[in-house]
Parts: sequence; structure tokens; C-alpha cells
Amino acid sequence: MSTPTPEVYEQGKGMDAHNQVMREIRSRKEASYDPHEPTRVWLDEDNTPDGVKRSLTIILNTGGCRWARAGGCTMCGYVAESVDGGSVSHDALMDQIDVCLAHEADNADEPATLIKIYTSGSFLDEREVGAETRRAIAETFADRERIVVESLPDFVDREKIADFTQYGIDTDVAIGLETATDRVRHDCVNKYFDFADFEDACAEAAAADAEADAEPDVDRGASAGIKAYLLMKPPFLAESEAVEDMISSIERCADVEGCHTVSMNPCNVQRYTMVDDLYFNDGYRPPWLWSVAHVLEETAEVDAIVVSDPVGHGSDRGPHNCKECDDLVQKAIKDFDLRQDPSVFEQVSCECETTWETVMELETSYNMPLVR
Ligand code: SF4
Ligand SMILES: [Zn+2]
Repeated sequence: MSTPTPEVYEQGKGMDAHNQVMREIRSRKEASYDPHEPTRVWLDEDNTPDGVKRSLTIILNTGGCRWARAGGCTMCGYVAESVDGGSVSHDALMDQIDVCLAHEADNADEPATLIKIYTSGSFLDEREVGAETRRAIAETFADRERIVVESLPDFVDREKIADFTQYGIDTDVAIGLETATDRVRHDCVNKYFDFADFEDACAEAAAADAEADAEPDVDRGASAGIKAYLLMKPPFLAESEAVEDMISSIERCADVEGCHTVSMNPCNVQRYTMVDDLYFNDGYRPPWLWSVAHVLEETAEVDAIVVSDPVGHGSDRGPHNCKECDDLVQKAIKDFDLRQDPSVFEQVSCECETTWETVMELETSYNMPLVR
């Protein structure tokens, strides 16, 4: 680490202030949850480097993110759904997996080929999911084609990835990078790591990929890679700043070896967050869906799959346009996710595009939101 500069010093202060506010906001929650039940589970389909796959998405309840307990990210309310007071045992986590398998058996004709496991934290953090549980979960899904697990970059290493690739499962680690710009990640999102940590995690995945290719005991070498999750429009950025930040972030991620997919997701207003407080006091508007479409169009040529899954589209607390065109634009975004063809956006238009263009031109960080 080099000698602290005034900039680093100020960022440190900013984080302390954010953490303090977020700790206070999170302390308002009262919910508690059963450690034997997953937070959520659902079936869907997803675009992967091997084409579109049927997916089973699992949100494991692991006691919540440690960073969130320190205060954590300004937009993230997931911790409000976590088990109070700490860790969840191996047996309880395996019970959660059983509930998910039962849900799949009841609702799908055949097993999903893609498994996605999120924890509202870091699946690869052994204080959240121990090595025994990680290995048991890998074994449970050994017959599937691909798995995605979520983690902060600090916990990504080639040995943990090899727990999955040893069975021939293509393995991706989803990292909530949020943005490639360190200043925005620190000051607007309040995430503590740097783009360089993300690059290190990608290098670990690339090494795991190379080792899996050389594995003699499986029919075909499994792949390993990183899926970067980006956050469109964190608090304190005007619409045009958010768009510019996303375009450069997608370009920078796509250039990193080991990162094959970028999922760019518009911020929505979750309960018990700083974004929620700002929104309530007229200081935040989620991004326009036109902005999402614009970023996808502008980055269609990069060397990575780029997708977006706007949550809560069309609602005040989610990404939205004028309400009239929200479903149409959302559908175009979903089409783009599967086909990666930017011409899908030529087929949608609405009068509110002019309003969006004006917001892009005139909204600044001291007059926002210009339009609700
Ligand atoms: S976004 Fe991720 S790292 Fe940040 S508080 Fe939420 S779960 Fe933790
Ligand atoms: Zn419209």
C-alpha cells in the first residue's frame, strides 16, 4: 500500500459516515427468518457462454453479509432478510438446499442445467458457508452443467472453484463489482474493495479454468469464469453520469481475462437502505429504462455477454420510464439478454424519450431528480 493521499483519506471518512448511517437504518428492521428455509427459490432461463439454459436460482439464508453488518452498501436491503445474530449450521443450510430441490421437482418437468446460488453475501466466505457445506453442495449438483455462486472478490480462490470443476461443472463466480470506477464504488455505493481486487479474482478464475482443462479424471474439462454484476445509477449520480459510468465499466470488465459476462442492473429502492431514505426525501429516482437500453446499445460490441434484468420495472421504486412504455422497453431488454442484438431497441419508441433526453442533458448531482 502506498502512502495515503488526501483523496484516500477523504474516501475513508466518507465510508465511515456511510457506515454509520446504514447501521442506523438497518437497525430499524424487525424481521427474523427460519434458518431451515431458503430466502427465495425460483425457476427461469438464462443466457450463458454455452447458450440459453433452464435455471434454478437459490437465495440461501446464511446469516447475511458481514459487510452489511458493518453498515454496508447504500442500496442493499438484503440483510434485512437474514437470520439474526450470525451463522447458519451445515445441517440447516443443507435443509435449505432440500427445500429448493423439492421446489424444482414440483414445478419443472426436468432438472435445470444451470444452478445459481446467491447468499446476500459471499458463498465463498467460509464464515458464511463452511468448506464442508460448500463441498456437499458441489456434490449435490455434480450432475448439472453449470453453477454460479456469488462472492465478494476477496474470497475467490482457485481451490474453492476446483471443488465444483472437479465434477466437470462449469463454474462462474458472480461478483457484485457495481462499477469499474473506484471513486463511485467507494463514495456512492460504499463498497470497500478496488477494481484491482476484481482483476485478481478474475485471475484466480482464469487459473482455475486452466487447471480444470488439465484435469485428467473428467470427460471434458470444466470452465471457470467471472460474471460481473454492475449497478446502474447508485445514489448521488445524475442520470448522464450513471450512464457514462456504466458504459466505461462494461468496457473495462469485458477487457479483463476471466470475465465473460457482465450483468448490468438498474438500482431499485429497497427498504432499510440509504437509497430508501433519499428516495423518501425526494433525493433519488431509479434510472430510466431508456438509460438501460442506451447502455446496452452502446456496449453491444464488447467482448463479453452483456445482460440486464431490471427488477421492479415500471414501479416508482424500480427503474421506469413514463409507465406507458415500461413493459415494452422491459421486453426489448429481455430480448436483448437472450439474443445480444441491439436492433431490438429500434422497435420501441415513446413520447417520453424526449423527457429522458432532457434529463440526460440537464440533470446534475445538485438538482436531481429533475423528473420523478
Ligand atoms: S450489496 Fe453485497 S456486499 Fe453490499 S451489503 Fe449487500 S450483500 Fe453485502
Ligand atoms: Zn414512455
